[in-house]
Amino acid sequence: MELEDHRMLAKRLDLYHIEENAPGMVYWHPAGWRIYRALEDFIRAKMQAAGYEEVRSPALLPRELWEQSGHWEKFGENMYSIPRPEGRDLALKPMSCPGHLQIFNSKRRSWRDLPARYAEFGLCHRDEPSGSMHGLMRSRGFEQDDAHVICRPEQVEAEVARFVRLLKEVYEALGFPDFEVALSLRPEKRAGSEADWDASEAQLLSAARAAGLEPGILPGEGAFYGPKLEFALRDLQGRSWQCGTIQLDMVLPSRLEARYVGEDSALHVPVMLHHAVLGSMGRFIGIMLEHHRGRLPFWLAPEQVAILPISDAQAEAAEAAYAAMRGAGLRPVMLNGGESLQRRLVDAHERLIPVHAVIGKREAEVGHVMLQDSSGKRAMPLEDAIRALKELLH
Ligand SMILES: [Zn+2]
Repeated sequence: MELEDHRMLAKRLDLYHIEENAPGMVYWHPAGWRIYRALEDFIRAKMQAAGYEEVRSPALLPRELWEQSGHWEKFGENMYSIPRPEGRDLALKPMSCPGHLQIFNSKRRSWRDLPARYAEFGLCHRDEPSGSMHGLMRSRGFEQDDAHVICRPEQVEAEVARFVRLLKEVYEALGFPDFEVALSLRPEKRAGSEADWDASEAQLLSAARAAGLEPGILPGEGAFYGPKLEFALRDLQGRSWQCGTIQLDMVLPSRLEARYVGEDSALHVPVMLHHAVLGSMGRFIGIMLEHHRGRLPFWLAPEQVAILPISDAQAEAAEAAYAAMRGAGLRPVMLNGGESLQRRLVDAHERLIPVHAVIGKREAEVGHVMLQDSSGKRAMPLEDAIRALKELLH
């Protein structure tokens, strides 16, 4: 049970905590933040390779902007706002889409500039009921691996295909090769004409099929601004987690007055795709922790290598191994306290550290370490050990 609940795992591994007076707000501790950064670096590199440009938009923006975008009307009760004199109220962003359109709108764009692909790990806040909070799975402050593609209507299919390739690659690398996909259609409360919806639903379905997917259909589940594809992973406990999403938006660009100069020299309104592969980063870490029962893959483990000198006589060699591993970008931890080796090995097991590097008299003399992991043990020169461990990183 303990290993299947990320909140208990987090306590055991000292990953994060939440204060009683701030439900849903996560204090990441050093070990938890190491996981977070490793996952973020991984997804950032994948997105860069797939052609997305990272940006950063402000967290606190004029309420006026949220009124213009329609978020205030639709989502206002879940937004944190700060009253200011003379109607200049501010609000914390619940999502980054309007910020990305402001970047797009900051200069005149031509059809040649499209598609614009903006990615952001932006800190978003949503005021959800405190009773619905659940560790990392449901929180009030979170970041998503969020991206927005602003493009011409005829570019939608290629951009959906680009996203699906990225998503497949990431899920595969994270150990979730199988996923389910569903297409959510027009909801009861919606913006846009019936003709717009007919066109966008057909377009998203054909883009999904062109990308090799056959989505299930969910009537009434779309966003108010357009249809969406949703991707759900299945974990080892057989539970399904909706993580990835791509949404076709026909409303927001026109509300925020986005325009580009077309080939015909006239001004046109672009369409916007909103997407995320993992969704909330914190929630995804919660899913990974439970899926792996706390034994994260080596590249994500907060403590990767336990360094274990057999006695104080090997302290110097152990220090050198620790410094060399840290310098190589690994996450070693020194277990050299006054306890017996046996006791420290038990400690390393309890902390779910995947690799142990034992250094005895013999190893210290020749600059070797005895590496132990689930596949067995082998003595090797320190440099070879570091090279082998670095191979396990993404
Ligand atoms: Zn968005």
